Amino acid sequence: MYLHPILEGLEHCFSLFYPNLCLVCESKKPTRGEIICFSCQHKLPKTDFHLDPENALIERFWGRLPLHAATSLFYFIKGGRAQQLIHQLKYNHKPAVGMRFGQTYGSILKDSPLFQSVDCIIPVPLHPRKQHQRGYNQSETFARGLSMSMGKPHYPHALERLTFTQTQTRKNRIERMNNVMEAFRLRSGKALEGKHVLLVDDVVTTGATLEACGMQLLSVENLTLSLATIGFASG
Ligand SMILES: [Zn+2]
Repeated sequence: MYLHPILEGLEHCFSLFYPNLCLVCESKKPTRGEIICFSCQHKLPKTDFHLDPENALIERFWGRLPLHAATSLFYFIKGGRAQQLIHQLKYNHKPAVGMRFGQTYGSILKDSPLFQSVDCIIPVPLHPRKQHQRGYNQSETFARGLSMSMGKPHYPHALERLTFTQTQTRKNRIERMNNVMEAFRLRSGKALEGKHVLLVDDVVTTGATLEACGMQLLSVENLTLSLATIGFASG
């Protein structure tokens, strides 16, 4: 079919946000305005952690970070649907995944007693060089979606990442831990005094990155800290 170049450009823009095929199964068509198909939407493994104040995510931070609340949208299982979704977000240039799921989850969290008092949202930052390579910060896209539906500001530059870590395979666990603890710096602490901050990331595994960012934030006077991630890798 012939399309005028302008229309072709519009079609291209539209398909960046609303793909022709579901971003999870890559076979069925999503309904207009969605990025995944109806069937995948229902099969994504939701945690419902926001309904449980003592869930497996908050337990992971016991003795490490004093948290008000913590939640993840999906269980992240190797080879599963949530992994496919996060792969699209991180490696396949699909920032719309973070935005869309941020918006959806934010509309749930804003009515949840555990998250109602959140004042602002801060994403785990990427090193500027990494962000330049990827074109965006995947955690920031999630933060932005949450911010839109929760009606709270998000501050993508509140934390900064100081080290550019390509690969850490040669370091042992303790060295890696020390590395990550020193990797972040808080830029604007004063404005966060007395606030309830929701720190967000794409996936939580060991929790070392969120712990390092959380420690920086908790250096601010009277700051209350909560966490939200898209994926939760258990075990
Ligand atoms: Zn699908």
